Amino acid sequence: MGAQIIDGKAFAAKVRSKVGEHVTSLKADHGITPGLAVVLVGEDPASQVYVRSKGKMTTEVGMKSVEHKLDVATSEADLLALIDALNNDDSIHGILVQLPLPGHLDEDLVINAISPAKDVDGFHISNVGLLGTGQKSMVPCTPLGCLMMLREHHGSLSGLDAVVIGRSNIVGKPMAQLLLGDSCTVTIAHSRTKDLQDVVRRADIVVAAVGRPEMVPGDWIKKGASVIDVGINRIERDGKNKLVGDVDFASCAEVAGAITPVPGGVGPMTIACLLANTVTACCRANGLAEPEGLTA
Ligand code: NAD
Repeated sequence: MGAQIIDGKAFAAKVRSKVGEHVTSLKADHGITPGLAVVLVGEDPASQVYVRSKGKMTTEVGMKSVEHKLDVATSEADLLALIDALNNDDSIHGILVQLPLPGHLDEDLVINAISPAKDVDGFHISNVGLLGTGQKSMVPCTPLGCLMMLREHHGSLSGLDAVVIGRSNIVGKPMAQLLLGDSCTVTIAHSRTKDLQDVVRRADIVVAAVGRPEMVPGDWIKKGASVIDVGINRIERDGKNKLVGDVDFASCAEVAGAITPVPGGVGPMTIACLLANTVTACCRANGLAEPEGLTA
């Protein structure tokens, strides 16, 4: 194996500890405790696990954590009323509505009801527009985590060729915007891309966000490239359940310069960035200087 393994777990712990230091000084110097509200509608088991670990980590860094668990049959009007109350609650600086929502609820409507300043997931249409035009915004957590790891590894990303595989609103598109913001030459590849392997082979940075187990083999990767694997795929191998990414780790690690593992790469950074976004939102709401290194 030639590649340096980018340890997302260790890096996320560093980010959380930085967040914790800011929380301590916000409390001590200004009497402010950042607060994060997470809203879960229904009982999707994966969502319940995410919400639990978000709450635990929010508390661990010293922030206020509020969880609203709503019945699966909650009406849109009731959900919007809760969001309105949270928008107007000065002790809450970040609001996250756990997706996916049950089918009778309009996700776009609900997300766009969150105050953009408290939209710590960065999915509100205003934040999408601000990011797209290079203005200060709340940045989606998963791509922000990828960007932080790439900056840590490369220092400057300026002029590098980057390929993002996947064009979703929550990962692929914001990832491409962030890389563009750091002056990469960016290609977005997707399910209709012709000659994907040729596109990937040109890249100094490959971010795979597809959701197809181990679809990128090592012989697509340029020697020394950085490979960020966002994919989380559950597969069965040798009679055992296993988590794998969108890249074939073993063969890609032979050629890459650096690579994130699955699990233990991008995943842990996502919650760390949610906490970072909450502290950033809190500082902005109070007209205080933003913590350095925790935003795009
Ligand atoms: P999505 O399904 O919304 O988007 C997948 C994208 O992949 C689409 O844009 C599609 O065009 C593209 N695609 C599909 N097949 C392709 C192919 N054969 N070749 C090239 N492109 C193809 O998924 P998403 O929400 O962006 O998530 C992608 C993956 O990242 C999933 O495995 C998801 O579980 C994972 N994920 C991880 C985290 C994390 O915290 N680590 C966060 C979000 C998503």
